[in-house]
Amino acid sequence: MKILLCFGTRPEAIKMAPLFHELQKNNVDVQVCVTAQHREMLDQVLDFFAIVPDYDLDLMQPNQSLNGLSATILSKMDGVFAVAKPDLILVHGDTTTSSMVALAAFHNGITVGHIEAGLRTYNKNAPFPEEVNRQLTSRIADIHFTPTAAATQNLLNEGILPAAIIQTGNTVIDALLLALVKIGKVDYQHPEIEQLKRLIPTHKKMVLVTGHRRENFGAGFEHLCEALLSVSEREDVTIVYPVHLNPNVKYIVYEKLSHNENIYLIPPVSYPVFVWLMQQSFLIVTDSGGIQEEAPSLGKPVLVTRTVSERPEGVTAGFSILVGTDQQKISTTICSFLDGFSGFGPSINPYGTGDASRKIADYLLKHY
Ligand code: UDP
Repeated sequence: MKILLCFGTRPEAIKMAPLFHELQKNNVDVQVCVTAQHREMLDQVLDFFAIVPDYDLDLMQPNQSLNGLSATILSKMDGVFAVAKPDLILVHGDTTTSSMVALAAFHNGITVGHIEAGLRTYNKNAPFPEEVNRQLTSRIADIHFTPTAAATQNLLNEGILPAAIIQTGNTVIDALLLALVKIGKVDYQHPEIEQLKRLIPTHKKMVLVTGHRRENFGAGFEHLCEALLSVSEREDVTIVYPVHLNPNVKYIVYEKLSHNENIYLIPPVSYPVFVWLMQQSFLIVTDSGGIQEEAPSLGKPVLVTRTVSERPEGVTAGFSILVGTDQQKISTTICSFLDGFSGFGPSINPYGTGDASRKIADYLLKHY
């Protein structure tokens, strides 16, 4: 069996890395193709997980349109498939890379497996490309590896046969546990972590912030920044914000927040550094999907700057709160946590326990 893992962005790479290593450990003939829909942020992850892609399409272009990117992926994958000749390809999640690589594989008669399948908001209005990407990929995929019971149920409701759905947990927890072991080693030294230790005051509660979603471009990010400005006036808090490289995010955030001494704007950090930051944080404010999944394993509350989430399990289990992008709501909720509110009891992370990659590999070894 020849398997080709295809991905293009930072979160996909983080979530595919443990699976790649698990398949290799089991002597599967596995190769990696990256579209490099993200470049720098993807490379940081490949580097940390020691993955050298066999095929690198290097597609990132400034201000690339989604249609331009889609067309290029579709046409370039033919060449990759002709050389790699995979029996099966695995794509991940909800990016343009996932849906277009799946479609290209289908056109070539190649079996498609979808990792992190079944997440849904059922809101496909622009600018939400993710929902359409995941639904398209579900229509094409032959095997669906779901992270949770809710994701499995979504696929069953859409008529996917039970035999094609394998519930495994999310591989992001596998990645997180690998990173925690690595950075927890006594002799582990990372220059960026050492630098941040010197930069960030340790006697204050750290609010860690990230954001990248199209739905929040413009007003959403402006309101978030206003909320952070008001929270930053408190003496017991420090705000650390690794700013996404997308210009729609970067310009607003730097313009609004760069002059505040209590807010540390830094470029996106590599995965081990971000895991270290999450460990140090008091609470996390984010629109990221992966961070919503990781934070429960670290016992950190998450305020989600969205009104919907395709990850309802964390909200139901009390690990995260949807605060949207209303300035008042964000700042009031952050302050209520800083003032001692603790709506978060100990509970098991609903997204997984760290054995998802092994379950996926076991299934593939048995059936292919
Ligand atoms: N992350 C990282 N560096 C950062 C910010 C986030 O390595 O500066 C990691 C984070 O731990 C998580 C993933 O990137 O695993 C989330 O990526 P992102 O928020 O870009 O995408 P999403 O998860 O929403 O698809």
